Amino acid sequence: MKISILTLFPDMFTGVFQQSILNQAQEKGIVEYDVINFREYSTHKHSKVDDYPYGGGGGMVLTPQPIFDAVESTKDSLKAKKPTRVVLLCPQGERYDQKKAEEFAAEDHLVLICGHYEGYDERIREHLVTDEISIGDYVLTGGEIGAMVIADSVTRLLPGALGNETSAVTDSYSTGLLEYPHYTRPAKFKDFEVPEILLSGHHANIERWRREQSLKRTFDRRPDLLDNIELTEEDKIFLKELKRKS
Ligand code: SAM
Repeated sequence: MKISILTLFPDMFTGVFQQSILNQAQEKGIVEYDVINFREYSTHKHSKVDDYPYGGGGGMVLTPQPIFDAVESTKDSLKAKKPTRVVLLCPQGERYDQKKAEEFAAEDHLVLICGHYEGYDERIREHLVTDEISIGDYVLTGGEIGAMVIADSVTRLLPGALGNETSAVTDSYSTGLLEYPHYTRPAKFKDFEVPEILLSGHHANIERWRREQSLKRTFDRRPDLLDNIELTEEDKIFLKELKRKS
């Protein structure tokens, strides 16, 4: 997969992409990050990328030309089988979640456009992008941190990106529930003990305990998620009991 990132601040990505799983995924050839300073595509004699808004008002607006040309350049050398997804980071976009990460991870090529200043010329929205994504209901200085969030959450879903010892399958949201609690050695730390069942070696009981802990945690913290998943009869009985006790 190729992830092209259009930004005015390419150095922001250096640390993030050179560490841990994102770095390893590139080394294994699972993902390629292409960080592009779209100022380099400006045809303005002083490489300007923004201008005053028509109609007046504060703030500068990103002009369409450098961004249109930079997006076009990302497709030049690419033999992607599927059409490129061109994603505009903006607080007005669809709220990003794990389902969207899974959808993006199935693509060959993502282009992430990081805005800055007041925002973008509307024609970028209307005629260039396929998706508008917000990473939450707050306003950031620029789209770079949002692009990092997308690149990270998508990369860890690509086959082979995580080591054997880690798996995205049971992660919170992947199953539709929040993940169950984890414990590791020692079995007793200070006066705090690991739940007995995890030391029992009984796999079926451990699986059931984990499922119930997931259900409980989701019920306590994010009950809205329970409306969107398929529950077994056993799950339903367990949840009914939780509701009765609460
Ligand atoms: N004036 C814009 C508005 O009210 O919608 C906000 C512009 S913001 C200061 C500058 C840039 O930061 C945006 O163009 C976008 O790329 C990025 N940004 C800010 N908040 C974001 C969010 N919640 N999700 C994704 N990107 C965001």
